[in-house]
Amino acid sequence: MINTKSTNQKIFAELENEQDELNQLIQSLIQIRSYSCEEKEIVEFILHKMAEYNFDEAFSDKFGNVVGRIGNGPIKILFDAHIDTVKVTESEEWLYPPFEGKIVDGKIYGRGAVDEKPAMAGYLMAGKKIKKYFANESLPFTLYIVGSVLEEDADGYPLYHLIINEGIKPDYVLLGEPTDLKVYRGQRGRMEMKITTTGKSAHGAHNQQGINAVYKMNPIIDGIEKLDKSLPAVEPLGKGSITVSQVVTRAPSLCSVPDYCQIHIDRRLTLGESKESAVEQLQKIIQDKKMDAEISIPDYEAVSWKGTKFKEEAYFPTWVLEKDHVLTQAGLQTASNILSKSAELGTWAFSTNGVATAGHFDIPTIGFAPGKEELSHSSKEELLLDDLLLATKFYFALPFQLCELLNQG
Ligand SMILES: [Zn+2]
Repeated sequence: MINTKSTNQKIFAELENEQDELNQLIQSLIQIRSYSCEEKEIVEFILHKMAEYNFDEAFSDKFGNVVGRIGNGPIKILFDAHIDTVKVTESEEWLYPPFEGKIVDGKIYGRGAVDEKPAMAGYLMAGKKIKKYFANESLPFTLYIVGSVLEEDADGYPLYHLIINEGIKPDYVLLGEPTDLKVYRGQRGRMEMKITTTGKSAHGAHNQQGINAVYKMNPIIDGIEKLDKSLPAVEPLGKGSITVSQVVTRAPSLCSVPDYCQIHIDRRLTLGESKESAVEQLQKIIQDKKMDAEISIPDYEAVSWKGTKFKEEAYFPTWVLEKDHVLTQAGLQTASNILSKSAELGTWAFSTNGVATAGHFDIPTIGFAPGKEELSHSSKEELLLDDLLLATKFYFALPFQLCELLNQG
């Protein structure tokens, strides 16, 4: 079959008729608890579905991501949905049990109902339809549907692994982080830093013999607080930020002068800010205050559910795709068709796997999914099932729309 407006309408109608199957998919995905590093069961569920829906290939890579492939056309498109979630804590109050996937009045509730299990449910249904109606020879694209693992702890790394170690390098990427059916095209970057000061310990009763590492840190913290207020806002991402998130001190006892102080810093980066510029700003504060202190960027280390160890520097670059880029335009046109109104653009406040695809590799990346970003990681995660249906139509139609625009040059 060739993709045209009328075949689109036919397949959209079929998706509407099969909304129960879609709802069951999202419900099953919520019912399988999949905390970061514990994604084995959900990976197996998705592999099973990909086989049932006749994907051309379905496997779990060395890191533990689940990867499905449809078609083998020249334009490589990757749909990413991270399938891990943050934990449910004891203090959280849920309206319904977080792993029940309860459906009430057209909404589904539970951990991952927003961040971001809907995207995987939609991708699977869209993939099913593409496989049902289109022979591979008629597909101008290769579509990779990826359920990435460990994203909540190591944003970017799962796709970094896929590109570097598995050799799957897409030309275009769609992320399934919540956008409330808007087309998102960027996010602030982030990084972590540590600053360490050292002094000389002494008995508290003879403190004049010591050098207090905390007093050396004080003016630096003061400088950081002032820096936060002076950081510039750059559209469309707004202002970066800097936050001292932890202070650690060491002394021989609580009755001694501490000879060690270390602060941990959370830094959000807007356009024009990079790892280098953020470190330079801190160096300037240290110099201006005439202190000696050391700046470092910590590494994040973990072991995936497959037993693969990895380490990455805690630096996740900022990225924004241009408004008039063909991928942004394909996203807007597809969304406008499906929503029957002109679709809106936006950017995420939080960080996504786009830090690898767009931030590191410069691969054009956008996002589209149902659900409100601000409900992520909260006990309020809930999703309108009709919005999931709309997103599924988008996932089906986008690859065709993109290839059509590319064809028009
Ligand atoms: Zn997420």
